[in-house]
Amino acid sequence: MIETNPRICAVITEETVAAAVDAMHNAGGLADMLELRLDYLRDFDFTRPDDLRPLLEQRPLPTILTCRSFDEGGKQRIGDRVRLRLIIEGAKKYAEFCDVEAAHYHEAASLRPDPSRLIVSYHNFDETPRDIDAVCEIVCALPAAIHKIVIRANDIGDSLAIFRLLDRSTSQGRNLIALAMGAPGVITRILGPSRGSYLTYGSLSRGMESAPGQITCGELSRVYRIKRITRNSIITGIIGQPVMHSASPAVHNAAFEEMGLDYVYLPFEVSDAAEFLRQFINPVSRMMDWNVRGLSVTIPHKTAVMPLLDEIDPVASTIGAVNTVVVEDGRLRGYNTDAQGFIAPLLQATQLAGKRCAVLGAGGAARAVLCALKREGALVTLFARDANKGSKLGGEFDTPYEPLEKFGASDAEIVVNATPIGMHGHSEGVSPVPPISLRGRLIAYDLVYNPLATRFLADAASSGCRTITGLEMLVSQAAAQFEMWTGMKAPVDVMRAAALGAISS
Ligand code: NAP
Repeated sequence: MIETNPRICAVITEETVAAAVDAMHNAGGLADMLELRLDYLRDFDFTRPDDLRPLLEQRPLPTILTCRSFDEGGKQRIGDRVRLRLIIEGAKKYAEFCDVEAAHYHEAASLRPDPSRLIVSYHNFDETPRDIDAVCEIVCALPAAIHKIVIRANDIGDSLAIFRLLDRSTSQGRNLIALAMGAPGVITRILGPSRGSYLTYGSLSRGMESAPGQITCGELSRVYRIKRITRNSIITGIIGQPVMHSASPAVHNAAFEEMGLDYVYLPFEVSDAAEFLRQFINPVSRMMDWNVRGLSVTIPHKTAVMPLLDEIDPVASTIGAVNTVVVEDGRLRGYNTDAQGFIAPLLQATQLAGKRCAVLGAGGAARAVLCALKREGALVTLFARDANKGSKLGGEFDTPYEPLEKFGASDAEIVVNATPIGMHGHSEGVSPVPPISLRGRLIAYDLVYNPLATRFLADAASSGCRTITGLEMLVSQAAAQFEMWTGMKAPVDVMRAAALGAISS
């Protein structure tokens, strides 16, 4: 009888017995099951199954014992017979399951495991084999309570194989755990349980992952709310590369939760936007049976998706980039909410008609900023380090261009940093302009949102300017996306709090 109750299994990857016992107890509120990775332990005698007793007798949750073979990602070289005996004997006395590699099934069988406590697993850390369906059939033919297939997704399209295996196992009434490792496979970890996977694994904290792409139990339950996802849930998400650092899943999922909507927002790590839209999104060609409603689009796909869509909104055409896709009536419609997201917080501070504005930078964000400021009738000058890019972009938006170092001589009342200068991991603590050049300006607006308190804004505040952080644009453009996908007013305060939480973590 197949079970579909979504389960989160917290993986315990501590190196000492004492730390493992603590971690198991801490996992109590976050997970439904535990996997104790014995091969991580450095102070344990693997030849003594009865030494598992102090580790497991007070276990707070049903527990899987795993002592992974070194060849399949184990942390230590332990003799196969020793480690198999440890988990098979251990599962009989002290735990609910043991996880045996399919490659070692016959040796394990000679140790007489309890079949009702046996998980048989297959791992491929390099790729998704082309014959994965046949591999799954071979593994599932080995008598066990649960079978497990773990492969590496080198492209998000590899995730399709996992969803196919889960569909088949569900229709056959088998207990299967199936997932794809790596960032492109993260959607299988989030959606797997709603599509029949017996469980999904989570780490207890960042840095404690046992496999690539594993996310934390807290994110699985609180951000993605996987217990509530069903096959009918409405799918949204962000496509980009990389996307795993994005604050958008926290922001949008918090908004769906607040509004009681059966939506989920996923991170789609995508290298080829055209192929992704064909396989996952376009109603005519997609290979996923799901309700897709929309996408956020980020670097490097904002321009690349444009020729792939059925319709483009005029604002997105003017900006030359799409950051939002709405799937409606079988068609893909492209929009750009960056201009609206940028301008809304600025309009709350001041009216813009006739105001002198300086935009620093001539990249993708600057395009949305120029478009929005010009629409409001502001008098804009573009400052950038690259004269070719600056004058080209200025020409497109009928805006004068000046070299970045000339900003100090400008009479702009409002200055917008649309470069990444000051951003965490890029040039944190640096400002695009000298502090003295900010004296006498009215408003400084930084698009950088990580960190929130940039050097540029600190210098501006010291010079008496009013400041606006990049968080305001982030939240405001996300709110506009939310409203397009749901037709409801966005819970902006909840989205801001979620964005702050995501950025600070
Ligand atoms: P982009 O397309 O790469 O453009 C960056 C611009 O900054 C280019 O003109 C680049 O000049 C210039 N630049 C980079 N490093 C510089 C340096 N050291 N000195 C002078 N100029 C420099 O990036 P983007 O997409 O426009 O994003 C820009 C920033 O805005 C990023 O920090 C991004 O996170 C932020 N942003 C925030 C939001 C939000 O919602 N708050 C939305 C979008 C973007 P070259 O062309 O010469 O390299």
